[in-house]
Amino acid sequence: MRLDTITELLGIPNYKVTHVIQNDGSSLHFIIDQIKPLPPVCSGCGRVHAGGIHSIGANMVEDLPISGKRVFLHVPRRKVRCLEDGTIRVEEIAWIRKRFSLRFAEQVYRLTAIATNQEAGWYLGLDDETVYRIDKCMLEKLAQERLDSPVTPTLMSVDEVSWQKRHKYVTNVIDIEKRKVIWNHNGRGKYVLDKFYRKLGPEGCENIQAVASDGARGFLSSTKAFAKNALIVLNHFHVKKNLNDALDMVRKEELRKAQKENNDELSQILHCNQRFILMQSKKSKRKMDVLNKLAVLNERIYQAMLLKEQFLAVYKTKDQKMARTNLKEWIIAAMKSKISAFVELGNKFFRKRHFILNYFVCNITTAISEGINNKIKRLSPMAYGFKDVYYFLLKIHQHCGMLNPRLST
Ligand SMILES: [Zn+2]
Repeated sequence: MRLDTITELLGIPNYKVTHVIQNDGSSLHFIIDQIKPLPPVCSGCGRVHAGGIHSIGANMVEDLPISGKRVFLHVPRRKVRCLEDGTIRVEEIAWIRKRFSLRFAEQVYRLTAIATNQEAGWYLGLDDETVYRIDKCMLEKLAQERLDSPVTPTLMSVDEVSWQKRHKYVTNVIDIEKRKVIWNHNGRGKYVLDKFYRKLGPEGCENIQAVASDGARGFLSSTKAFAKNALIVLNHFHVKKNLNDALDMVRKEELRKAQKENNDELSQILHCNQRFILMQSKKSKRKMDVLNKLAVLNERIYQAMLLKEQFLAVYKTKDQKMARTNLKEWIIAAMKSKISAFVELGNKFFRKRHFILNYFVCNITTAISEGINNKIKRLSPMAYGFKDVYYFLLKIHQHCGMLNPRLST
């Protein structure tokens, strides 16, 4: 192939191919140079210095593949003495990001938005460390452009998610209408959410109509202090989780008792392998069979299951009055149940009853935040190569928020 044809194929403004130095089964190596030499731009201060060239080195830069072969460009890079601090700096070339062309780095970033870092690395033939470096570099640059001032939401949801073996947390704010994470931060609790509201400013806070959360005290007090017009809603899926947790606690207690008493039939039903049948919301035949057996074998767990079922009726109605009556009846039944996990839950729901019922005032759908939360939980540190919490925050934005190439604003 002629050199000018390859130059045309590469299409890098003001650069031409001068030599083909390698063309084997898997890779192509070209030496390229400027067609019309422009003065070098200092990478330290971003200015052109008239002081002349200190020396010239060369960089090997990976570019987009051609016909399935990896492409490496050998680019001369001039060095200049920076007039700001006197150090020798390599020139800045706009289409190069570290050891890759910008368009190659963009491809990595698009791939890591839909796959794990490992999968993207396997596809492109890059090691994990390289994928991490390119990915982080691209995300940091985009974050500067897009994350500086958060979007003002009308309906929002706030939630925390753990990372690194559950010892550390990050807080995510979701715009329910935009279906995106619009802001996130290291840590949890009041002081973190305060930061978000401060960043929005008083006008932005005034605009918020409803805030859904897990009902954690920190989130509530922060929202009350800043978003004064907002209706506070307890997230539907957190309520469901509370119910499942209480039921699971009863199951474990009864399982221990059954094992002690060598009650094999009951132990088998209560064993953790069966627990998903108990947690199901749908009424399957299998679940009904289990329920019927439990009605005979163990009254406590049967009662706990009925309490859980009964609660679902609160959300089934669309009528606020009806929901209030159902919730009141449920709280009374839970408190009378003498099952400590449900007595406790009855107390908790009594304290937070207004927030549960606010769900029926404002038509806030928490399915979106539940979906996003589940997606974030799947962004496991192992698969995505998170080295630091800052990178984790950026990855959340890349997969569910403002840095997603497919959900671009
Ligand atoms: Zn400089």
